[in-house]
Amino acid sequence: MTSLARQARRNALHIMVLCCALPVTVLIGWVTWETASRLFAAEVATRAQALLSVQSATLERQLDKFRLLSPLLAQRPDVRDIILRRDARGGERAAALVAGMAGAQEVLFLDAAGGLIASSHMSPRYPGNMLEQVPLAEAQQGRLGRAYRRGSGSEPGSYVFASAVRAGSLVIGIVVVRVSLAEIEQAWALSPAPIVAIDEMGEIVATNRPLWRGQKASERFEVLGAAEVPRTGEGAAAAATEAEYVRFNGVKGRGPYLRMARTLPVLDWQVAAFADTADARSQSQKVAAIAVLICLLATVVGWVAADRRVAVLRRLREDKIAASRLERKVRLRTRDLSEANARLAREVSEREAAEAELRNMQADLVQAAKMATLGQMSAALSHEFNQPLAAIRSNADNAKQFIERGMGERVNGALDRIILMVERMAEISRVLKGFSRRAGTDMRPTAVKPVVDEAMMLLSPRIKQGRGRLTVTHLDGPLSVVGGHVRLEQVVLNLVSNALDAVEARDDGQVVLTTRSEAGQAVIEVRDNGPGISSDLLPKVFDPFFTTKEVGKGLGLGLSIAYKIVHDFSGSLTVRHAEGGGAVFTVRLPLAAGLSDAAE
Ligand code: ADP
Repeated sequence: MTSLARQARRNALHIMVLCCALPVTVLIGWVTWETASRLFAAEVATRAQALLSVQSATLERQLDKFRLLSPLLAQRPDVRDIILRRDARGGERAAALVAGMAGAQEVLFLDAAGGLIASSHMSPRYPGNMLEQVPLAEAQQGRLGRAYRRGSGSEPGSYVFASAVRAGSLVIGIVVVRVSLAEIEQAWALSPAPIVAIDEMGEIVATNRPLWRGQKASERFEVLGAAEVPRTGEGAAAAATEAEYVRFNGVKGRGPYLRMARTLPVLDWQVAAFADTADARSQSQKVAAIAVLICLLATVVGWVAADRRVAVLRRLREDKIAASRLERKVRLRTRDLSEANARLAREVSEREAAEAELRNMQADLVQAAKMATLGQMSAALSHEFNQPLAAIRSNADNAKQFIERGMGERVNGALDRIILMVERMAEISRVLKGFSRRAGTDMRPTAVKPVVDEAMMLLSPRIKQGRGRLTVTHLDGPLSVVGGHVRLEQVVLNLVSNALDAVEARDDGQVVLTTRSEAGQAVIEVRDNGPGISSDLLPKVFDPFFTTKEVGKGLGLGLSIAYKIVHDFSGSLTVRHAEGGGAVFTVRLPLAAGLSDAAE
């Protein structure tokens, strides 16, 4: 694969990782944002609702406490007396005492028409008159009168309860208890979130934000939308809760706020708590950002993993290619090898066949050479036979005459000589027959001495006729070599024949055949004192058809055949100059382990 294709593949994988990772990241970010927003919003809502529940309960409890105070006072006989007698001094004392003990801001005793009799507030420490805002009508009708009274300036407002004082069925006066909302506002001030109480007219009557007091609630904030109310509240109270998102007018950067509101049943006021959602939003953003970061990290990890995967795949592919290449190479090599093997086997068998052929040819050659040797010796041999035949003839004639003359005692001598000569002829005939037999090719332990003796016997007619003298010496005891009797005899015959030829021209021709053992080998040495072989011809003497003899006398095969035979016997045949002239031929053959000379 080219590097361009590899790059394209790598890019494709990376684009795939990106294509998968980006939408997944966006989706996870969005889902995380949504879930976290919902969870944090729910938490904000729960907190706001809890705050609302606690603070609205605080308001209710505070007002409830004083709701019963005015009817209770109206029942009291001393209060009735004060009103009946219009006892301003006593009334002031009693009102101040009740206000002080109950913690009310002001207690008033009025006549039935609403005229002031006494007030805890009449002392210089409590200036002002509250009569304008006293709910007289309800009280005069015998019901509990209640009304909110706006505060002056920075002073928180108050709530007024009024109860009728009766004498029998007649309303004779009215007891008024005024409660300050300052305590409520102080309790609410502990909460950092804005809390407001709104009257039925939509005016803020109590709040922990003093500046908002007296303002229209609708001017303070605008509604952005409804919010989900967590259903963790308790029954009706929870059902009465309303929730919406709002933004405060004139406040920049903050919000939106979650507004949780609940209507207080008796007062007909609405208490609202505001919870800032900015923290929840920023927390949601953080969580979503973390999720996105994790996704991006996973993308990077995926990217790196994809890179690694590509590298691993590439390596695997390359390994596979290399393996298949190697396999192909091994297959080719194996094929080459088996072809070479087959060729070799063919060559071996061809060579074996050629060797067999050669052996046959060599055997033929040996045979031919032997026949040639015999042919050359035939004149001498016929003389060898003719001489004893003539001797036998004359001895037989002699024996006949001895018998005729009655010289019986001399007949035996003639007959003995005849027998000796016949035996001699039979022996020569046996050796000739053995020699002329075709030599085998097998190898076996062969004794050297009988071989030499037979060769000498075959050569004896020539030696007798020739001028050279032959001396045979066996220096070491009986030697045995591995080879063939007839072939070794041929070697000896050739070497001695050549030596006799070489000394033919000399009067003092000497041929010495020596056998000895040397360094684990049998040595047959044929030495003569003939003309020797010139140095330039020395390397050629073992070549087939090399001869210096005249036509008809030599074929040039004797030494080459001898050389081949000796090599077949794992031996060596060498030639060198003899000291004082002449040639020395040396045959070296490995000694056989035992002595055995089975006839071939
Ligand atoms: P051939 O005897 O038929 O010539 P050989 O192979 O036996 O064939 O000998 C080859 C030649 O080696 C001979 O012609 C001769 O010249 C030379 N030669 C062999 N033996 C001797 C020797 N003892 N002295 C001198 N020359 C020799």
